[in-house]
Amino acid sequence: MQEPVSVPLGEDWPEIRESVRRICADFPGSYWRDLDRREAYPAEFVKALTDAGYLAALIPEEYGGAGLPLRAAGVVLEECHNAGCYAAAAHAQMYTMGTVLRHGSPEQKAKYLPKIAAGELRLQAFGVSEPTTGTDTTKLKTRAVREGDHYVINGQKVWTSRALYSDLMLLLVRTTPREQVAKKTDGISVFLVDMREAKGRGMEIRPLSTMINHNTTEVFFDNLRVPAENLIGEEGKGFRCILDGMNAERILVSHESIGDARWFVRTASKYASERIVFDRPIGQNQGIQFPIARAYAATQAADMMLRKAAVLFQAGLPCGEDANVAKLLASEASWQAAEACMQTYGGFGYAREYDVERRWREARIAQIAPISTNLVLAYIAEHVLGMPRSY
Ligand SMILES: Cc1cc2nc3c(=O)[nH]c(=O)nc-3n(C[C@H](O)[C@H](O)[C@H](O)COP(=O)(O)OP(=O)(O)OC[C@H]3O[C@@H](n4cnc5c(N)ncnc54)[C@H](O)[C@@H]3O)c2cc1C
Repeated sequence: MQEPVSVPLGEDWPEIRESVRRICADFPGSYWRDLDRREAYPAEFVKALTDAGYLAALIPEEYGGAGLPLRAAGVVLEECHNAGCYAAAAHAQMYTMGTVLRHGSPEQKAKYLPKIAAGELRLQAFGVSEPTTGTDTTKLKTRAVREGDHYVINGQKVWTSRALYSDLMLLLVRTTPREQVAKKTDGISVFLVDMREAKGRGMEIRPLSTMINHNTTEVFFDNLRVPAENLIGEEGKGFRCILDGMNAERILVSHESIGDARWFVRTASKYASERIVFDRPIGQNQGIQFPIARAYAATQAADMMLRKAAVLFQAGLPCGEDANVAKLLASEASWQAAEACMQTYGGFGYAREYDVERRWREARIAQIAPISTNLVLAYIAEHVLGMPRSY
């Protein structure tokens, strides 16, 4: 029988929540609107989170980090989004960390983690997606071929967010062609690429203009030489290293969705109570009230699943089902809340100064990246319910 675990209710990690709220108070809607207009990176916000030690939340204390549980890191992201900020500019440092911690060599950890913890190095870029292979990750075409004490990398990534603002990138490549491996997940390797050395020497980064300010890019590799010592884990076993981190990633990004949902519900409730039309607050009409109340209920349910997933993850217990269910419910709750808020604001929802349209655009991404809803549903259908595999 499974050991009992307890799930914290209410405002757990209250000191962290309070401190993140204080930091976020310095970054109001006007800050984010300006960045959004210019498609610029929130350098000051990321610096504030780094200086407070939050981007080193998951790095063990022996390397200078805070050594906090995943839930605490999630609470940081949730509170950022709850306050109207957009933590995606920095969140990858949390979700790429698991790969380095679990599969990095002692030398790699000693070399990089203290500097990441001190804010001297950023590990913010994660190069998985490619233009022609999409979700079918094992078909990725970027190749690394060993030549002496280096690997030579050729290929292209797309949607590599924050690559222009990161020093390091976790890069997924093929080291053995798919036709030569028994299992399609074999022959894939992960590298920690030092982008400071790589830029202009075989690696080129081009920004992509997108619907939200996500600082995402295309990255081109043309005979980039990466030292063999930067291979993480075993050659050919990299897909496992990345898969290992998927539950943590789903749990972390779900916290952002919960934060978004809370912001939308609070913002919509307030506006509904204050906006007078037909001589009374619009929130007196149940047609306005109920969608907001439904979104609140959906948020509470998703939050509960998320807390459970985080507790199971921390206890080292299987949490694939819970992480995926939490991700599904949280991304849908935030969208439900975004829609309710937009509808409550009516025409003013389109006016940039209220931040509703920007946050509505931002909330939509949770159903597409880092993993789309269909793939989460496929996991539940096939791995939990035992239906035949669709891919
Ligand atoms: C703003 C943004 C930032 C991103 N940041 C990063 C990043 O930092 N690093 C990175 O590596 N990637 C990043 N991505 C990529 C993101 O992870 C992918 O867009 C996402 O995983 C979906 O892949 P795709 O766009 O290639 O969709 P496709 O694979 O082309 O799929 C298109 C649609 O079809 C569905 N679909 C495909 N196959 C199936 C199937 N078998 N069954 C059911 N449905 C299916 C998908 O779920 C999706 O809805 C980012 C994307 C965006 C938009």
